[in-house]
Amino acid sequence: MQFIADLHIHSHYSMATSKKCDPYNLCIWAAKKGLDIVGTGDFTHPAWREELRESLVEDGQGLFRLNDERLSELSKSAPGLDLSSVRFVVSGEISSIYKRHGRTRKVHNLVMVPTLDAADRIAARLSEIGNIEADGRPILGLDSRDLLELCLEECEEVMFVPAHIWTPHFSLFGAKSGFDTVEECFGDLVDHITAMETGLSSDPPMNWRLSALDRFALISNSDAHSPGNLARESNLFDCEMSYTAIRNALTADGGGFVGTLEFFPEEGKYHYDGHRKCGIRWDPAQTNLHGGVCPVCGKQVTQGVLHRVDELADRPEGVRPQVARHFERLVPLRSVIASALGTSEQTVSVTRMYELLVHSLAPELAILRTVPLDEIKAAAGAVIAEGVRRVREGQLSIAPGFDGEYGKVEIFTDAERNELAGQAKLFTMPHSEPHRGGKKPGETSSEPLPPR
Ligand SMILES: [Zn+2]
Ligand SMILES: [Zn+2]
Repeated sequence: MQFIADLHIHSHYSMATSKKCDPYNLCIWAAKKGLDIVGTGDFTHPAWREELRESLVEDGQGLFRLNDERLSELSKSAPGLDLSSVRFVVSGEISSIYKRHGRTRKVHNLVMVPTLDAADRIAARLSEIGNIEADGRPILGLDSRDLLELCLEECEEVMFVPAHIWTPHFSLFGAKSGFDTVEECFGDLVDHITAMETGLSSDPPMNWRLSALDRFALISNSDAHSPGNLARESNLFDCEMSYTAIRNALTADGGGFVGTLEFFPEEGKYHYDGHRKCGIRWDPAQTNLHGGVCPVCGKQVTQGVLHRVDELADRPEGVRPQVARHFERLVPLRSVIASALGTSEQTVSVTRMYELLVHSLAPELAILRTVPLDEIKAAAGAVIAEGVRRVREGQLSIAPGFDGEYGKVEIFTDAERNELAGQAKLFTMPHSEPHRGGKKPGETSSEPLPPR
């Protein structure tokens, strides 16, 4: 069967996360988004595992669902959403900070297991090494290789995936404190790594430029710190919905892993180089021109993902290796609505429209990907429908993210939005009151929008 999974998220026990990252809200938001499987996040945290045990029940396939009591409570408060089909996979992220080959390394790894008992065993071992209660994503002085060994000892079926492998500060290939090769990081255990998480700031074509990545499944997850950010990126499967089937699929040539739903990489926080505080945003060529030095503060700028990929790549842009999988680029529906309404994403009007659409029309991912545009138009109006069409066609502009700041998506200019809204009024209200100034009937421009 086909399903969509977001495997890497965080609970309310992680730093800087929403209080709403609890089992109920994660389940509700998974349903709103159209996710079939969502990671629990933070399985190393004892209180979180306690909470999971109170709310979830094993489904017999190495996955979990809300227990019947919780389901009936929730279904009343969230009518119209299919909560019973949402599954959880036990997952967590560990931050390792350690010395290797004479340099400080900071690497995040995503770990998944099929049972909470396996999570208990791994957590017990980690608690001998460092504090796993201070943060849902614990920081340990444990070498990535040794963490992998420990996980394999406690659970043979563990899925161990280097997380957001390109981010500058905390990742396998990170420019600041990562490695140049996977082998350097995992040594003799490298063959146990079969998948890589590419992160928000890179997309599959960027990763295809490294032949060294051909032997891995390239997965994408939201790394959400609040339930509303679930499914920013996710994975498409076509196999049995079980832990074992997912594990078998997550290899370079594993059948059943169809591909990924992605951010536009420019939306990510570390696509370009630069200094946020100094207001410097550079593409790699500009950085090289300045010798990498910020003209405002005189320090080295933070190298972004695009630049780092370029540094390690052994293929030119545009090469598509044989093992490449399907992928689609998306913009979150809230951003599309905000751009269509000409307002910020945090406003009540955006929230109202979002809730109306995901409850009455379809889950977010379906609206973005497959719901016919005339149905979206009927429910949301012409401008939002046009926004979805533009996202599907890739007709938008993005000021790329840099040094920790998200990219800024622009789907409509003010002039385009006003024009579209004006047209929509004429078409939907033919007998409305007489025109107050502006264009007279018949003067409405029907020219196509300029290409972007
Ligand atoms: Zn991380
Ligand atoms: Zn600076």
